[in-house]
Amino acid sequence: MAKTKAERLAQQRLCKRRKYLEIKNDPELYALEKEKQRAKYKKTERLKQASAFPNKVSIVNVETDELSEEKSNSTEDPIGEKNSDELVSHLCCEARNTKCLLRECIACKDKVLNYKEFSNDSNLTYFKWKKITKEVLTKKGIKKKQVFTVKDPITTQPLTAIRELETLINPFLSHVNNIEVQYTTMKNLKLNLTISEAVIHVDFSENYALKYADEVQSFHFGGSRQQVALHTSVIYSHDFSIGAIRPISVCTISSCIRHDAAAIWAHLIPLIKQALEINPFITILHFLSDSPISQYRNKFMFYIISQIRNEFKCISRISWNYTEAGHGKGAPDGVGAVLKRTADRMVSYGRDIGDFDSFCEVLKENVENIIIKIVKEDSIKKKETLIPKNLKPFRGTLSVHQVLWHTFSAKLTLRKQSCFLCDIDEHCVHGKHLGFYEIIEDSNIKHNYNDSENVMMLAATARRSVLTDINFNNDLIYNL
Ligand SMILES: [Zn+2]
Ligand SMILES: [Zn+2]
Repeated sequence: MAKTKAERLAQQRLCKRRKYLEIKNDPELYALEKEKQRAKYKKTERLKQASAFPNKVSIVNVETDELSEEKSNSTEDPIGEKNSDELVSHLCCEARNTKCLLRECIACKDKVLNYKEFSNDSNLTYFKWKKITKEVLTKKGIKKKQVFTVKDPITTQPLTAIRELETLINPFLSHVNNIEVQYTTMKNLKLNLTISEAVIHVDFSENYALKYADEVQSFHFGGSRQQVALHTSVIYSHDFSIGAIRPISVCTISSCIRHDAAAIWAHLIPLIKQALEINPFITILHFLSDSPISQYRNKFMFYIISQIRNEFKCISRISWNYTEAGHGKGAPDGVGAVLKRTADRMVSYGRDIGDFDSFCEVLKENVENIIIKIVKEDSIKKKETLIPKNLKPFRGTLSVHQVLWHTFSAKLTLRKQSCFLCDIDEHCVHGKHLGFYEIIEDSNIKHNYNDSENVMMLAATARRSVLTDINFNNDLIYNL
């Protein structure tokens, strides 16, 4: 029997609602949907901008993060490609092929951009991301240097701009290659997890500013607003109740808004505990995060990776994988969005979320699919005392995309891309090896331990406490 129009519409509505619910409950789908919406919004914005200035501005966006180059031109663009995607598909026979992106493919390695005819007399303007240091006055009146990233317009002759662009193309293609490789490697890993493994995708969400339903003006404009740090994560592991790999969203929140290595360490503890609760057979942890130097990718984090075993004896291997800079948003982003939206909604219903405790309470009452854990400021401070201040820096930290730790090894293996085929401690045969990083607690007392270098010593708790004692009494020891 044919349905009437009203029935058909009702069914469509129901379908839509069901689909939306499904997306809302799955952090990965949610992140994907958000990404789609973001792209759509960007596109309409760009069209709006273009129509606002007819014949005047045409924007070519070649995004390479720090190397971002963007051209706007008063006459005509010397190249036809409108954005970075078009540029990649012009230069490579296959946009996602490693060989093409590294310019090793015989078919496309010599491909160049086709420049149109242009006159070198009329200047063009392009934009470049630039870091500048400015002196700012803090609240207490102290002068402090702060780094800002600005979009700097550069006006120059077309030929100079083209030369600049040519020097950026190869680094840009290898950047695209890093994005691709990291994404596909981690996706494959997630799909083929064994029972003893877990993937933990972590990311700091933007701090949430606590608010009251009714705010007096002095509160709104004054500096009395408190903030909360949200460390969001998704754990992928075997769930024995359903017999399959299931993503579980966890958020650790803290009233201390530090985002440094010590804070991350404190946030990781309840997270790993939760993973082991879901699956007690886990012995291998794979972390996935984005790669800001100030948070996850630095020598302090490398050290912390080697120390996790102190609290979790069952963990024998850890890999920390970094997505390419600026491209790490994903599932955890969705977790943060759900939490903030819930809190905002409750405020709009008249609920006060003015302090940390009421924020936790509201979330625990109203969010179903996300496990919430609290990290105390004390535990962050405690972790800070455990991190040695004089760690050796690793040359080339900026290219590290994988750190591997093994309980029987005294050093970390660092790779420029993730590889799970080559074993820890090995030089990756796929050309991804960067170097080894030896974990030494204190450079002053390194020689004392030379004899026992090959002994498994990295992870032992006892050794660490002994070392900290020695640290304190350094002078004493040398005097002896
Ligand atoms: Zn090719
Ligand atoms: Zn390899």
